[in-house]
Amino acid sequence: MLNGTPASDGIGIGRVMVIEENSLDYTPKTVTDTEAELQRFKNAVKIFCDNTAAQAELLKKSAGEKEAEILEGHIQMIKDPYLAGEIEKLISDGQCAEAALEHMCDMFITMFSSADDELTQQRASDVKDIKTGILSILLGVKEVKISAAPKGTVIVAKELTPSMTAGINNENIVGIVTETGGKTSHSAILARALEIPAVLSVNNAVSQLSAGEQVIVDGTEGSVISSPDETLIEKYTKKRNEYLRERRELENYRGKKTMSASGEEYELFCNIGTPEDALNAIDSNGEGVGLFRTEFLFMDRNSLPDEDEQFSAYKKAALILKGKPLIIRTLDIGGDKDLPYLGLKKEENPFMGFRAVRYCLKNRETFKTQIRAILRASAFGDIKIMFPLVTTVEEVREGKQLVEEVKKELSQNGIQFDENIKIGIMTETASAAVIADILAKECDFFSIGTNDLTGYTMACDRGNNDVSYLYSALQPSVLRLIRHIIECGNKNGIPVGMCGEAAANPMMIPLLISFGITEFSVSAPSVLKVRKIISTWTKEEADKTAEKVMSLSSEKEIYNYLKTVI
Ligand code: PEP
Ligand code: MG
Repeated sequence: MLNGTPASDGIGIGRVMVIEENSLDYTPKTVTDTEAELQRFKNAVKIFCDNTAAQAELLKKSAGEKEAEILEGHIQMIKDPYLAGEIEKLISDGQCAEAALEHMCDMFITMFSSADDELTQQRASDVKDIKTGILSILLGVKEVKISAAPKGTVIVAKELTPSMTAGINNENIVGIVTETGGKTSHSAILARALEIPAVLSVNNAVSQLSAGEQVIVDGTEGSVISSPDETLIEKYTKKRNEYLRERRELENYRGKKTMSASGEEYELFCNIGTPEDALNAIDSNGEGVGLFRTEFLFMDRNSLPDEDEQFSAYKKAALILKGKPLIIRTLDIGGDKDLPYLGLKKEENPFMGFRAVRYCLKNRETFKTQIRAILRASAFGDIKIMFPLVTTVEEVREGKQLVEEVKKELSQNGIQFDENIKIGIMTETASAAVIADILAKECDFFSIGTNDLTGYTMACDRGNNDVSYLYSALQPSVLRLIRHIIECGNKNGIPVGMCGEAAANPMMIPLLISFGITEFSVSAPSVLKVRKIISTWTKEEADKTAEKVMSLSSEKEIYNYLKTVI
């Protein structure tokens, strides 16, 4: 099995078509008739623009306006007076059209590739595409025609450039596998728009998969199985059919309000771990982001990310969300999330140790850098700040004090931010839950982190199998704390969400409706499912269910009872 980045959901079973780039080798030469060479270049550009416009039209029909704009952008790029002018200058100086084009395009490719933000890096792929397109015309090389692929084809390529993808349609292409590209690459965006399962960044995919070979592409898990046996094909065909059936059914809930059967409305957000995940939040019809775990930015590296790097990441998520709410959680390290480069001393009990907001309040510069980056990004969207692992009111006050300090510094420097940015906390420790009445007076919102709340309440490590029988958010103790947190939030007029995994548990949903929750934040694939479950409950039925549940004495009784009503 090969693994890569899961870039477009679903299962595809088909035969491999390897897309290999044609050789575009040539021998650079000096030209004497520069006028004729200029004309040759201009003709090639014209053919390129005509072809690209035709491909864009095709793409508009198969995938939509937005995807076609990528190709239309190529026409504008090559017509850009600077790029075209410089190429023509080189030709006038005696270079052949191929060499002049390659020289200028390579310059732009290097420049765009070294940019910090992924969107600019994508431009490099656009310029590469332009270069290949025009070089092919100049050299008379035929481009690969994906549009001619037979039904049931899985495309395997080093890289899929936008012009290659123009011929893709979901009638013939059942899967995409590439060696490069992330969730925001053109291939990924297009695959999602066409609903073709895709796994990207698979090492050596081209050499490991051969043309005509049967493969299974699991775009949800990010895996590719080559030459599967009958049992595997049967298993994945079942999985695919189940996926398609469920998706068709859930599609009825796309674009609908998140509303109970008796008309109470809720916000339904997504949890994300990277800025690119915000695309999944949008694709899955989430109404915003209820938890952006910022740890990813700090992991797998040797030093802290600086303010600008963090700012770019938060801004990117905000821009993708286009004004929809984005709750950014400040650094939640420690416990199971170690950052070796911080050189923190080994602890006997890391989950109870020097972590999350505790670490940040003792390392104020690190904390302020993150707060500054979040505040700067708040000028680009509806951003809220959330502190993790709060246990005392002082932590909230000190955190808010730091936000105020950073706001003052930004104002003095004339940097824009949202003056009224909301500040909330994760209620995920037993202490925060018990003193929720006190904390609610200091916060703009709560978000219940049941993953940790369950662990801390049950005194049981969420990753330890030996005590996993205790680890359930349906334990009477945990449910009492959840109810208390929501009641305290409601009494103080602040919204209360839940971003722990329990928010998507069909057994938990009626209880949350009854307790008075206002927001659910779940993983992207769960959005439509949760919207559907909410729509099946009236407040009255939910109240009855919750009343019964709260009268029961054990998790087992609660679970068994809920099994009879859902
Ligand atoms: C939680 O604890 O419920 C939560 C959402 O945070 P994390 O899983 O990142 O600890
Ligand atoms: Mg947590």
